[in-house]
Amino acid sequence: MGLLFYYLLCTVISCVLLYMMLTMIRQHNVLHILFFVFVCISNFGYTFLALSKTLEEALLANKILYICSFLPFIMILSNAQFCRVRVPGWAVAVLAAANAVQLFFINTIGYNRLYYTDVSIGDYNGVTYLTKSYGPGHTYYIILLFLQTFLAFTVIIYSLRRKKNTTYNTILFLGFGMIFTVILYIVERRIKLEIDLLPLAYVINSMVYLIVSYRTQLYGISSGIISIYEKRKNYVCISLDSNFRLMDYNDNSVELFPEIAGVHLDTDNYPKDSSLYRNIIIWVKDIASKENREQERIIPLGEYIYRATVRLRYSGRGKFTGYVVEMVDDTEFQRNLSIMERTMKDLDKARESAIRASHAKSDFMANMSHEIRTPINAIVGMDEMILKESKEKNILEYAGYISEAGNQLLSLVNDILDFEKIEAGKLSLSEGEYSLGRVIRTVYQMMHTKADNKGIEFVVKADQHLPDGYFGDENRIRQILINLISNGIKYTPKGSVSMSVAGYMTADDMAELHFEIRDTGIGIKEEDMERIYDSFERVDSRRNRNVEGTGLGLAITRELVRKMEGRIEASSKYGKGSSFTVIVPQKVTDKKPLGEWQRSEIVREDGVERITINSPDMRVLAVDDMPLNLVVIEKFLSMSKLHLDTASSAKDALKLISENDYDVVLMDHFMPEMDGVEALQEIRAMGGKYETLPVIAITANAIAGSKEEYLSMGFADYLSKPVEYNALIDILLRYCP
Ligand code: ADP
Repeated sequence: MGLLFYYLLCTVISCVLLYMMLTMIRQHNVLHILFFVFVCISNFGYTFLALSKTLEEALLANKILYICSFLPFIMILSNAQFCRVRVPGWAVAVLAAANAVQLFFINTIGYNRLYYTDVSIGDYNGVTYLTKSYGPGHTYYIILLFLQTFLAFTVIIYSLRRKKNTTYNTILFLGFGMIFTVILYIVERRIKLEIDLLPLAYVINSMVYLIVSYRTQLYGISSGIISIYEKRKNYVCISLDSNFRLMDYNDNSVELFPEIAGVHLDTDNYPKDSSLYRNIIIWVKDIASKENREQERIIPLGEYIYRATVRLRYSGRGKFTGYVVEMVDDTEFQRNLSIMERTMKDLDKARESAIRASHAKSDFMANMSHEIRTPINAIVGMDEMILKESKEKNILEYAGYISEAGNQLLSLVNDILDFEKIEAGKLSLSEGEYSLGRVIRTVYQMMHTKADNKGIEFVVKADQHLPDGYFGDENRIRQILINLISNGIKYTPKGSVSMSVAGYMTADDMAELHFEIRDTGIGIKEEDMERIYDSFERVDSRRNRNVEGTGLGLAITRELVRKMEGRIEASSKYGKGSSFTVIVPQKVTDKKPLGEWQRSEIVREDGVERITINSPDMRVLAVDDMPLNLVVIEKFLSMSKLHLDTASSAKDALKLISENDYDVVLMDHFMPEMDGVEALQEIRAMGGKYETLPVIAITANAIAGSKEEYLSMGFADYLSKPVEYNALIDILLRYCP
C-alpha cells in the first residue's frame, strides 16, 4: 500500500506543480507546460499500473507512463530556451524523428517482441508491477535517453561557458535537476527495485523548472523584447535590476561592451573597465534620481551613431524591478540630421549676409535720399523766388517746369525715404491736434489743379456733421489721401476722381473716419489686386508704361494706415475704375461740426497759410461803435471772397438790415443809445425772415456761461473780444449761403 501511496503522491504533486506553473508564471512557455503535463500523465500512468488487475490493463498503463520518454527531448528545448542557446533546426528535426521511432516501439508493446521480449504481471504488497525482459527497442530507448540527457547538459554547459544570457544560479539549478534524474535512474537500474524512481525524479525536475521560471521572470529582460529584436542589426539591449546590477543583455551588447562577457550575471559587478558602460550607468542613475528627465541620448561610437533610451521596468503587480537600456543604430538618421543642421547653418549665414547687404543698401538709399533732398529743396526754393519776382513770360514758364519737376523729384525721394523707414521699422507717427476741414481743404487745393491740368473732374464730398477736431498725424493722413488721389488722377485718362469723407462715433471721444477715393479710370485686373500693395510692384505694366511711378505709393499708404491701426480696402472693375477706402480710428478733440468746407480756401500770405471764405454771394454786416474793431474785422475778411458792410451804431445797422438781404450779422453787445440785445429784439420784431436772421454777439463779456446766456437771448452764436481770426472765419463759414 505504501507503494501505491508513493505513486499517488507523485501524481498529486505533479498536478499541483502544473497548477502552480499556470497560475504563478506570467509568460507561459509551451514547452514548459508540455513538460509539466507530460509529467502529470506519466505519474498518472504509474499509479494506474500499480492499480491494474490484468496484464492488458498493466500494458495500457505502461504505454501511458512512457509518455515520460519524451521528457528529455522537451528538456533539451526548454533548457535551450532558459539559457537562450539557439538549437539548429536540423538538430531539432533529427531528434523529433528519433522520438517518433521511439513512439512506434512503445506503441507496439504487447503486439511484438521488439521492446519487451517477455512481459508478465507481478504483485508486490498488493501493488501491481511488470516483470519484463528487454528487446532492441528498449536498448534504443536507453541510448536515446542518455543521448538526449547529454545534449540537455551540453546546452547548460555551453551557456555556462558563455557566462551569459542567464544567471549562474539558474544554470546550477537546471544542472542539479538533470543530474538528480540521471542518478535516480541509474540507482533504480542497479538496485532493481520494484519501485520506479522516475516519477520522483520528474517531480523534482518540475520543481526545478518552476523555481527557475519564477526567478527568470523576476530578473531577465522580458525575453520577448530580446528575442524580437535580437536579430536586428546593431540593436543593443541591457537589463539592469533596481540596484543597477547587470541582469541580462543580448549578443550585440558584447560587441559594444566586450568586457560585459566577463561578468557573472548574478553578481553585483559590472564591467568597470568599460568607460562607455560606466557612462551609461551614470546616465541611468541620473535618470533614476529624477533630476534628469532626458531619457534619450545620442551616442557616437566609431562609425556608428546610437540612439539610447532607458525604460523603467515593472513587475505585473506594478513593483519597480529595474531598467532596460536599449541602443538602436541611428547612424543614417543622425548623419542626415547633421547634414540638415549644417545646411540650416549655411542658410542662416546666407540669410544673415543677405540681411546685412539689405541693410547696407537701405542705409545707402536713406543717405542718398537725404543728400539729394537738400539740393532739391534749394532748387525748388530758388525757383519759387524766380516765380515770385520775375516778370518775364518765358522765364516764368521755364521756372514753372522746374517747379513741377522739382516737386515730383522731391516726392519721389520722400517716398524712398518713407519706404526705407518702413523697411527698418522706423516709420513712426507724429501726432497732434488737427482740423479735418483743414486737411480736406489742403488736399483739395493741391489735387484739383493737378486734375484740372489733366482735364479731369475732381470732386470732394464731406459729411458736414462730422466733428472737425481730431488727434492724430495730420501730415500722414494728408499723405495717404494725396497718394490715393494722385493714383486716381494718374490712372484715369478721362472722367472723374472723387473723394468722400464720412465717419461715425465709436465711443464718446472716438470716431472712425472713412475716406473713399473713387475714379473712373483704367481699373485693376482681379488677379493683380493682391500685388498692388507690394513695394516696387507696378501692375499692368504695358498699359501703365507712360504713367510715372515707383510702385511705392500703395505700399507706403498701407503701412501708414496700419500704423494708425486702420485698414485700407480696394475694389476695382478693369476698364471701369477703382475705389480705395481708408478707414482710420481717430480720437475726437473738438466736436464742432465740419461745416461747409467747400466755402473755404487756403491762402498763403507771407509764408503763412490762412483759411479764407470763398463765398462771393455772402453778405455780412458787422456792427460796432468802436471803429477800430470794425477795421480789425475788415482786415480779417479782406482776403475772403464775400460782401461786408459795417455799421457804427445799432440804429444804422437796423436801417441797413431792412434795406439789404444779409446772411449773417455780427453785433457788438455794448453800444451807446441802443445795445446789441435791444437791436436783436428790434430785428426780431421786424418779423418774417428777420425772425431767423442769424445774429452773432460780439462781446468782451467772456465769463463762463455767457455763451448760453447769449443763445437764450436769441443770438445764433457768440464771439469773444478780441476777435480771433480763425474763430471769426469758422463761425462765418457756418452761415455761408
Ligand atoms: P505707382 O507709383 O506705380 O503708382 P502704387 O504703389 O501707387 O505705385 O500703385 C501700384 C500699382 O497699382 C500701380 O502701378 C498701378 O498699376 C496700380 N494702381 C494703383 N492705383 C490705381 C488706380 N487708381 N487705378 C488703376 N491702377 C492703380
